[in-house]
Amino acid sequence: PPSLIWFRSDLRVHDNTALAAAASEGPVVAVFLRSTAQWLEHGHGANKLDFWHRGVLALRAALHGLGIPLLHRDIDDFAAAPDALLALARETGARRLHFNHEYPLNERRRDASVVDAFEAAGLSAVGHHDGVAFAPGELRTGKGDFYGIFTPFAKAWHRQVTPERLALRDLPAIQASLPVASDPEPELPALDTAPAAPENWPAGENAAADRLERFLRWRARHYAERRDFPAESGTSSLSPYLALGMISHRQCLQAALAENDGGLAEGDAGLTAWVNELIWREFYQHVVVGFPEVCRHRAFQAHTEALPWRDDTSAWRAWTEGRTGYPLVDAAMRQLRATGWMHNRLRMVTAMFLAKHLLIDWRHGERFFLHHLVDGEFAANNGGWQWAASTGTDAVPYFRIFNPITQSRRFDPDGRFIAEWLPELADLPAKERHDPSPEQRAARRYPMPIVEHRAARARALEAFKGLGPEE
Ligand code: FAD
Repeated sequence: PPSLIWFRSDLRVHDNTALAAAASEGPVVAVFLRSTAQWLEHGHGANKLDFWHRGVLALRAALHGLGIPLLHRDIDDFAAAPDALLALARETGARRLHFNHEYPLNERRRDASVVDAFEAAGLSAVGHHDGVAFAPGELRTGKGDFYGIFTPFAKAWHRQVTPERLALRDLPAIQASLPVASDPEPELPALDTAPAAPENWPAGENAAADRLERFLRWRARHYAERRDFPAESGTSSLSPYLALGMISHRQCLQAALAENDGGLAEGDAGLTAWVNELIWREFYQHVVVGFPEVCRHRAFQAHTEALPWRDDTSAWRAWTEGRTGYPLVDAAMRQLRATGWMHNRLRMVTAMFLAKHLLIDWRHGERFFLHHLVDGEFAANNGGWQWAASTGTDAVPYFRIFNPITQSRRFDPDGRFIAEWLPELADLPAKERHDPSPEQRAARRYPMPIVEHRAARARALEAFKGLGPEE
């Protein structure tokens, strides 16, 4: 009998641990369970769901090339997964199910219930660690704890990584045809908004491989100098592909290794800086397992739960709509809404602005980002937000508060990014775009700052000091 391979956020046939394991045992039938209502409840929006949908279509075509049928089923929520998978096992005669682990708490609970249901039925379901070089928990501090700080985690990662851990998994051979036919191509589920810029994000592993190649050819060696400048496309823009597994971290790391004469930690400054970002990604995957309270909307630093977050609807709306009166913040929020993506430097600036200048609970911002981001992914998003709010692992010290105007002068020195996303300010001389005068604002119907930087900073410092010393 065939075995089943259950695809989730690992939408590729190349270098896929669970698929390679299943195929090494004999013929395979692929399964995708779409739980749109559950994903919406988790906070994903049209950008990600549309990209996910197109990714499944691309996967279906790639599987077809290997003779592997794809069964596509809609379920209401995660609780329905065990029964749906058992029914497919009965339909196909499969006795074994393979899948790659997903690490956030709800996903792990869902998977544990599938494993139990299969065992109870006398079948087996096997999880594989695929999206990370080390399974969460494999890297630990001297005291045996999960790392809560990035730098020692990265050092341990470099010390212990071996070529086998990064070795690419086998592509299955083309299999003889099975008496099971693929389900028809699924339709995009009805969503209440249209995706923002799907043309920016062609789906599938070929598109991802192309992007990686172009990045390595043109930009990787300049990554260290250019990655912080949102007007330059200095980064890989692979995040949506990594988040849904249309490319693997191993494929990225292997490609970087090959470009860098076999080095991960040493060698070209651009390539090693980029490898470091991939380790950040892995770090946050470990954090959600080691500190599962972050999956329950809790701050990593428990004492910060006492922060006096403000309830300020009009400031919140100004932030979400790009009308704070801080041009860099507003340009970034408009980029997010228009494209479903935002540059990393600007994610840090806008997140810190919400949490510190506006003193609005970071959880609102976290949810808003997840809803709009095409790369929206729980672990990295939560990690980034808690970093910016100084409530998380590796948190910025609370007194380090970015001045959005200084950030703007530094990282958008010729005002190009501002001009692109705030066309109303584009006619100003570059140097004046960062902080236009009241007259310039009035003439262009661009708002005055909704908070004054120094006063807002003082308010945030007071709030954090009021927490008292950390326990
Ligand atoms: P590159 O600079 O080319 O980096 C390569 C890859 O490394 C990225 O594709 C990504 O997978 C990973 N990576 C890079 N930086 C980080 C980081 N700081 N943390 C974790 N992984 C990283 N990233 C997401 O993938 N999904 C999110 O939902 C997300 N939300 C964020 C929210 C906030 C508030 C902040 C500050 C950061 C967030 N990030 C998130 C991390 C980072 O901003 C994006 O991964 C990055 O901007 C993607 O662009 P790129 O693919 O060009 O990255």
